[in-house]
Amino acid sequence: MKKDLVDTHNRTHRSLRISIVDKCDLRCTYCMPEDQHFLKREELMTREEIATIARLFVERYGITKIRLTGGEPLVRPDAVDIVRDMSRLGVSLGLTTNAMTLDKHLDGLIAAGLKNINISLDTFDAERFKKISRRDGFDKVHASILLALQRGLRVKVNMVVMRGVNDDEILRFVEFTRDHDVHVRFIEFMPFAGNHWGRERVYTYAEMLGHINSVHTVEKLNDDPHSTAKAYRVSGWPGTFAVISTVTEPFCGDCDRLRLTAEGKMRNCLFTREETDLLSALRRGEDIAPLIEANVLAKHAMLGGLPLFKPEKQEEVLHDLSERPMVSIGG
Ligand code: SAM
Ligand code: SF4
Repeated sequence: MKKDLVDTHNRTHRSLRISIVDKCDLRCTYCMPEDQHFLKREELMTREEIATIARLFVERYGITKIRLTGGEPLVRPDAVDIVRDMSRLGVSLGLTTNAMTLDKHLDGLIAAGLKNINISLDTFDAERFKKISRRDGFDKVHASILLALQRGLRVKVNMVVMRGVNDDEILRFVEFTRDHDVHVRFIEFMPFAGNHWGRERVYTYAEMLGHINSVHTVEKLNDDPHSTAKAYRVSGWPGTFAVISTVTEPFCGDCDRLRLTAEGKMRNCLFTREETDLLSALRRGEDIAPLIEANVLAKHAMLGGLPLFKPEKQEEVLHDLSERPMVSIGG
């Protein structure tokens, strides 16, 4: 029998992000601390375990949307097989990737049923890319975005906007929507363990929109229900853009997302400090359904229990952050 996952704030959950590996072939400053340690292979969920847990979420709990992420999902040798498994569950399926090796995997991913892809790119400047990601890669990522568009995938480009780092490139990214039928998402810089966050480093939603509006005629588009992003288009241009305003205007009231880390820990919020170990219970042969339900019921009203990200709350936010860096949560 199907049962909705409803929390005490009356939110029904339909969306699951699954991190399939915590390793990454880039080391973005805003995501991964320099001294990050990675899980051992046997600590990761196997392909079969991912399929078993995902099937339970879909068939028993009515999850309709799955996004695979990491770390970098494509560093996992069986990533394409996992995409195929998820695709067979009949959900709306997406993959978030840094696209460093997407060219090699694209045919396989499309054949496995992938239609939606989110690709992270924070700059159009190769030197700046190297500074932000601590590795070379701009040319590869840029070429992969164009290739994915050519091959008919629905492409979203994620840009984390950081004051003094890449905020001067917002208009360049908006212009990308003139040249391509792509959806660019400007993401406010969020606080995670070891990422040197400071409220003053957040280039805000209001600032982004003010800047874009000062140059272009911008139309507001309808946002999908439960969308984390506020969508716009420059009038007459084929592509669209959106802002994810987690820091200055969080959207927790509508949140329908749950998360699973690469080692099978369930999290009900990006910012929570509480996790439920589904994988160990599954390996012991226990029923994980009661664990899932209890995890959802414990979901905080907002931001995993952190205070609002106001400048005067910065110390409190930094003190109360989860110990997990973003790279091991899976965004
Ligand atoms: N490696 C893949 C990638 O980069 O797309 C998937 C994992 S990555 C953690 C998922 C998304 O989280 C990326 O779009 C990344 O830009 C975003 N992200 C990471 N750290 C962030 C932060 N501190 N604030 C906002 N977004 C962040
Ligand atoms: Fe790796 Fe993605 Fe994090 Fe960059 S944002 S370090 S590519 S997981």
